[in-house]
Amino acid sequence: MTISVAIIGSGPAGFYTADALVNGGCDVQVDIIERLPTPYGLIRGGVAPDHQTTKKVARKYERTALFDQVRYFGNVEVNKDVSLAELREMYDAVVLAVGAPSDRKLTIPGADKKGVHGSAAFVGWYNGHPDFRDLEPDLNTRAAVVIGNGNVALDCARVLVRSREGMAGADIAAHAMEMIETAPLTDVYLTGRRGPLDAKFTNVELRELGALERAVPLARAAQLPDAVPDDMDPRDKRLAERNLANLRDYATNDPDAKPKRIHFEFFAQPVAILGDARVEAVSFERTRVVDGRAEGTGELFEIPCGLVIAAIGYRSDPIEGAPFDDKAGIIPNADGRVDDGLYAVGWIKRGPSGVISSNRPDGVTVAEYICEDFQNAAGKPGRAALAPVLEERGVRVVTFDDWKKIEAAEIARAKGSGNPREKFVTVPEMLKVLDA
Ligand SMILES: Cc1cc2nc3c(=O)[nH]c(=O)nc-3n(C[C@H](O)[C@H](O)[C@H](O)COP(=O)(O)OP(=O)(O)OC[C@H]3O[C@@H](n4cnc5c(N)ncnc54)[C@H](O)[C@@H]3O)c2cc1C
Repeated sequence: MTISVAIIGSGPAGFYTADALVNGGCDVQVDIIERLPTPYGLIRGGVAPDHQTTKKVARKYERTALFDQVRYFGNVEVNKDVSLAELREMYDAVVLAVGAPSDRKLTIPGADKKGVHGSAAFVGWYNGHPDFRDLEPDLNTRAAVVIGNGNVALDCARVLVRSREGMAGADIAAHAMEMIETAPLTDVYLTGRRGPLDAKFTNVELRELGALERAVPLARAAQLPDAVPDDMDPRDKRLAERNLANLRDYATNDPDAKPKRIHFEFFAQPVAILGDARVEAVSFERTRVVDGRAEGTGELFEIPCGLVIAAIGYRSDPIEGAPFDDKAGIIPNADGRVDDGLYAVGWIKRGPSGVISSNRPDGVTVAEYICEDFQNAAGKPGRAALAPVLEERGVRVVTFDDWKKIEAAEIARAKGSGNPREKFVTVPEMLKVLDA
């Protein structure tokens, strides 16, 4: 008997699950349901546009989508076009792979002022995610503060100072490139509560800042420790040593070597966003790190700026029809099992951390469970039940062939620019390609 599986979400976790199901040795029919017309989740909408090598993983996902057993239902939003409860009636197994699309909120006074954005929104804007097309951050300022010391913070700082020339070969949204290219922004402050040894940057991303075309990274020697403590976990120690070596280099850079600067500001806890309606500065308290925790010293200082990006983490949203652990921000699960016939993988299962490949084991495990759990099942109809319901509701389903047409049009639009594609950034624009 064929097991019918609906996977909700076409990011890495969804695709790894589909791949593991098809290659898992049991008889399956897999439907990937995605709210956007475009597949691949954060590979398209999160990973930095100038990191095209990382985005190449989508080619592997494409091979998965082309398996006979797999069908892509793009432009179908679960709990808007079809409910989770309905899908559970239609399919033997439903896998939630919806990621963590929201920002962890900055909760200091003034955080709601104009000019303060979360990184999910800002990254979505420069990556052309339709949800954030209208964010229009005001870049008409000389200085920006990025709060956070992880790779997403680095991405935001880097993208803000890049030039159109430097971005040749990237697929940044045209509206974002235009604003970034012409912005008067000269100084970006990358701030972290703790010290350089606690920063979560990977070394490749940190090193990359040393080779930017129009910005120079600057660190302050006084904030850098002389050595990495011996009692660190060996893996963390190696990373900290490499990062420290780069930061030492950055401490000797000439601030005027290039027209723009990225300043590393460690031991800086944001306490308030200052200004009237708009942000005019961020007030910080200087910290020291005691037993791995940042402790305030009482010393306050301000960084004047007209833009703040809070890159302090992502959050999943609750899904009607599934349990949700609000504190942990995930769907409670036992190694991916949520309820009879309901599973979770990726960021909605584990929380928003880890790299693309960290999502693969989730998919492999859940695929094994599904094969095990349904080996003697009567078999629900799956897509044979879903397709007519969507049609009856007038939902414009985007198939994988349709997506390839949208993609071809994006590639054609970019011809001659040196960029791999020029993204459509609204759903109607994407659908128009199909109607033409
Ligand atoms: C800014 C940023 C940069 C990153 N850069 C890198 C990097 O360079 N290298 C690296 O290894 N990792 C990187 N990562 C991490 C990587 O992107 C994640 O590990 C991975 O995308 C998580 O996969 P996921 O499938 O759980 O979620 P997602 O990729 O978010 O996919 C979830 C999908 O579900 C869809 N969806 C949501 N709700 C519904 C619904 N109701 N109905 C239908 N569909 C729905 C969404 O539209 C989305 O397509 C980055 C993450 C971020 C945030």
